[in-house]
Amino acid sequence: RPIETLYAALAEPETASLRKSLPVRQAVVHWFKMDLRLHDNRSLWLASQKAQEAGVPLICLYVLSPEDLEAHLRAPIRVDFMLRTLEILKRDLDALEIPLWVETVGKRAEVPSRIKELMKSWGASHLFCAMEYEVDELRREAKLVKRLAEGEEDERMVAQVVHDTCVVMPGALKSGSGGQYAVYSPWYRAWIKHVEENPDCLEMYEKPVANPPGTRDRRQFSHLFDCPIPEAPEGKRLRDDDEKVRFRALWPAGEHEALRRLEKFCDEDIGKYAERRDMPAKQEGTSNLSVHFASGTLSARTAIRAARDRNNTKKLNGGNEGIQRWISEVAWREFYKHVLVGWPYVCMNKPFKPLYSNIEWSYNASHFRAWTQGRTGFPIIDAAMRQVLATGYMHNRLRMVVASFLAKDLLIDWRMGERYFMEHLIDGDFASNNGGWGFAASVGVDPQPYFRVFNPLLQSEKFDPDGEYIRRWVEELRDLDDLSKKEVHDPYGRCGSEEVRKRLEERGYPRQMVEHAGARERALEAYKRGLARD
Ligand code: FAD
Repeated sequence: RPIETLYAALAEPETASLRKSLPVRQAVVHWFKMDLRLHDNRSLWLASQKAQEAGVPLICLYVLSPEDLEAHLRAPIRVDFMLRTLEILKRDLDALEIPLWVETVGKRAEVPSRIKELMKSWGASHLFCAMEYEVDELRREAKLVKRLAEGEEDERMVAQVVHDTCVVMPGALKSGSGGQYAVYSPWYRAWIKHVEENPDCLEMYEKPVANPPGTRDRRQFSHLFDCPIPEAPEGKRLRDDDEKVRFRALWPAGEHEALRRLEKFCDEDIGKYAERRDMPAKQEGTSNLSVHFASGTLSARTAIRAARDRNNTKKLNGGNEGIQRWISEVAWREFYKHVLVGWPYVCMNKPFKPLYSNIEWSYNASHFRAWTQGRTGFPIIDAAMRQVLATGYMHNRLRMVVASFLAKDLLIDWRMGERYFMEHLIDGDFASNNGGWGFAASVGVDPQPYFRVFNPLLQSEKFDPDGEYIRRWVEELRDLDDLSKKEVHDPYGRCGSEEVRKRLEERGYPRQMVEHAGARERALEAYKRGLARD
């Protein structure tokens, strides 16, 4: 079935009348996916309401599928964050006498039947979960809805797959011609208008209500409270204890941390966001909340409300520039999810602009390796690539610069970079990552023509003028105190002294692997040829 049909079938209003007519049996289930929080969680709240009305316990479920983690190229640092978050969720749910059952399912295709078996064993009839917009997930949920509804009258169950991840439901905004918006600015204007006209978009959902006392002691549920949080599957583990300690200190997990960070950012830094957001040396210049948006430890509604309420206009636009700007960035995340629903083929390794399917990419392994290891000879690129290896994170400005460098200067297939990011980022999110790579490689929704190529040296001078960020991550340059402001961006170049060159050679810092002006010409030619081949 075309994906649009699947999406429409799952989108509210709900799929079947069964949901209304089916009596609640012994329990209601909420299935946690990328919504790992109790606060402002629409699906969890609906499940809790259903359980309350019927006077039965709520059970929470998480399905860990190693095959799924592989297919989504989840980075070990991301998996570790997710498992630590589950520990926190379990502790908080425990206090409400709500069990969290974590089920490991080898094959992702088996998830719907496994969920049905579990629900049967718990005597549960109703399941709630948040919708994920990637094609495979829509297919899985369509299968789940069907599988649960099968069988004799007393075996039938119902799944309600609800919108929660975005403030505005994907598909709700239509352009003048009645289609989906493919350009951000008009989409954003329509998004603001929609949210203002529909205040329930920013509605807050309460935490779930505690289960009836004694749930923990009921024979059929008691074992659920003892379910351990599993270890990361093989291939998705952090390398050693050192790494664990370092990453855990850098990225404390769970929704309490997300809310703490959000409040601190909104109290102290959001006002200066517009001026500082492009300067990677300023860690507090941006919110560092992407891991929480990506894991669902923070709800987009909560984030937007927090920002809006600090604005003197009490609106999403107007008023403080930093606040307006931050809200518009959070909206980019949502825009890219809307794009997935409008153009599902972007989930299938295809560029958003089909015209750009015939570019002859390079697959030069040693060039790709130099890029991943931060050994391109361009300090700003090397600093950014080393930051990812050391922390699982990279500043937005530099994601654009390194992605443009890979796709344009090295002419390497942007999908290799997209994949590498997913395998290493703590905030890896398919829609935002795919959108960002599409933008940088000029194959995505961005209307700019392909001849926009970032110049790494100019970007470096503009956004890291003192070389503070470069020195933080490129150790070969760190202690060269006599390095001038100009030299730090291009140490072997025109402005570099003989003395500096000698010392860098001794330290093994590479020379620029390509000459930017020539590489730019080569890229423009390749794009032109690709388009002509269409
Ligand atoms: P802030 O500047 O504080 O922004 C707040 C939130 O808005 C972010 O946490 C994020 O959820 C959202 N946001 C901001 N900018 C963007 C954007 N350009 N696109 C989409 N959402 C945005 N973001 C991810 O969350 N996951 C990814 O896998 C990812 N891959 C990217 C790949 C490339 C090539 C590019 C150019 C961008 C990518 N981004 C991705 C977007 C952006 O770089 C990060 O969201 C941002 O750097 C996170 O830092 P922050 O939380 O401090 O952001």
